[in-house]
Amino acid sequence: MAFSHHIDENRCKGCGLCVTVCPKNVLEISEQVSPKGYFPVFQARPEDCIFCALCCVMCPDVAITITEETEEKTR
Ligand code: SF4
Ligand code: SF4
Repeated sequence: MAFSHHIDENRCKGCGLCVTVCPKNVLEISEQVSPKGYFPVFQARPEDCIFCALCCVMCPDVAITITEETEEKTR
């Protein structure tokens, strides 16, 4: 089953909580400022993500979503 991990740059405030909680050290704070004036988080090592969803649960701004990619969507 395939999943996709999405970070909404317009919601992320760059607090770093998700970076701390990620067991696989996937996330890092960007050096590029977002349209909202924050330094958003990004997946620096997406290949290491195990889609455990800890980052989604931790984020106070609901900036991270994990969605299941169904066959219908990929067709
Ligand atoms: S889903 Fe889990 S492994 Fe992937 S970035 Fe979030 S906390 Fe890290
Ligand atoms: S916890 Fe949410 S707001 Fe904080 S850095 Fe991560 S994605 Fe951004």
